[in-house]
Amino acid sequence: MKVLFAASEMAPWVKTGGLGDVAGALPLALRAQGVDVRVLLPLYPALRAAFASSEAVVRIPAVGHMPAGSLHLATTADGLPLYLLECNALFDRPGNPYLGPDGRDLPDNALRFGMLAHAAALLATDASPLSWHPEVLHCHDWQTALAPAYLRYRLGLVSGHARTVLTVHNLAFQGLFGRDMLEPLGLPADCWHLHGVEYHGYLSFLKAGLQHADALTTVSPTYAREIQTAAEGMGLDGLLRYRAADLTGIINGIDTVQWDPATDVHLPVHFDHKRLKHKKAATQALRRELGLATECSGPLLGVVSRLTQQKGLDLLPPIADRLAALPVQLAVLGSGDQALEAAYAELGRQYPAQFSVQIGFDEGLAHRIEAGVDLFLMPSRFEPCGLNQLYSLRYGTPPIVRATGGLADTVIDAADAARGTGFVFTNASPEALLATIERACGLWRNSPQFHVLQQRGMRADYSWRQPAQAIAAIYQRLLH
Ligand code: ADP
Repeated sequence: MKVLFAASEMAPWVKTGGLGDVAGALPLALRAQGVDVRVLLPLYPALRAAFASSEAVVRIPAVGHMPAGSLHLATTADGLPLYLLECNALFDRPGNPYLGPDGRDLPDNALRFGMLAHAAALLATDASPLSWHPEVLHCHDWQTALAPAYLRYRLGLVSGHARTVLTVHNLAFQGLFGRDMLEPLGLPADCWHLHGVEYHGYLSFLKAGLQHADALTTVSPTYAREIQTAAEGMGLDGLLRYRAADLTGIINGIDTVQWDPATDVHLPVHFDHKRLKHKKAATQALRRELGLATECSGPLLGVVSRLTQQKGLDLLPPIADRLAALPVQLAVLGSGDQALEAAYAELGRQYPAQFSVQIGFDEGLAHRIEAGVDLFLMPSRFEPCGLNQLYSLRYGTPPIVRATGGLADTVIDAADAARGTGFVFTNASPEALLATIERACGLWRNSPQFHVLQQRGMRADYSWRQPAQAIAAIYQRLLH
């Protein structure tokens, strides 16, 4: 079976969050299931540098106001073919793939990702300039969600084409633009209606995909249910309920090679569930790296996250004084809302021996925090899947999570003595978070019980094998 996987980021080359991790690992896991997967990505500068010898293989025609481009073929060290969409006017920008240096969305994102989606759709038709014809086009998030609409309203009218799957990694990002973008995107006026690409007076890339993809998936069973409710559906719950029969929630896996405490290239010391005592050395190394006091009678807590309301990270500063008094130490790595960045930076200044705050994106430090801290915090208001709690579990770092989305599906509270792997709370309030941290500190002091929790988390299977099987089964269903 041939599958074109269209995404806007892919670890390790371009990553802003979970989507990058998924695009970096899932195609290989699908290949292990016998699927011939090829990945389509924009040719960003980081990819141009990584695959400098790649060559243009075909031309991609101009559409609407989107310029012509070309497709480069590259192969990763694992032998995975990548189609890199070259269009320097749109993709030759350094840094974050979506944001400018001012932290705002790039003004031409509609054309940038419109071009990516149109190229994906074109490659999925019989009129593709490539000789390799996918049977399934798998799109991810709003950046490629317009592809099924291009097939429905444009390309598919004159040509046979692949079946389509759209995976929602986060319903909060919808790709909303003005109606005036219809013509620049090469979309006909007759797609502007309730059952087309229109959404409350805007053109919505994500809605277009939810409406027109043959199958929909999201990244956990609980999130699949939540997004069908008015409270969590971000205005798209009605459409998602309408398409419920085509929507499947499948928990993400993790890249168990990149994220393995026994071999992780970013760690100064290695450990596994049989050599868990070596984790203490990782903790001390992290304290030294971050300038934290090397002695503390309480645990070291960690956060690696976008600093946003979604992640519930506004719940922590109000309880910081009480956390300092417990005492606990805290290692924070993240970036996002300016107000939250400032609040965390202030905590770091106030408690330099106890709280370390690093504003920025640092892959290596993210690994060392996962490995070095005793407990990992994810008090998310909503969380489609979440990957950090899975990394934490694998690194012997019981996570403290709010019961939402994928967090609810992957972490079992320690109150379940036979199955517990972490700590789960329900109310999105500073007090509930504090009470749960206190509860976790209590168990941390009882080291045999804490050990059991750590070991259980470390032994579980978080690999992509099962999720990839479930996704391959969806492809199969579409083809039969
Ligand atoms: P998101 O909603 O941001 O996609 P996920 O938990 O699904 O959340 O995935 C986030 C990914 O991004 C994880 O691999 C995490 O380690 C990484 N990450 C988030 N913030 C940072 C940061 N500041 N530095 C390094 N890695 C980060």
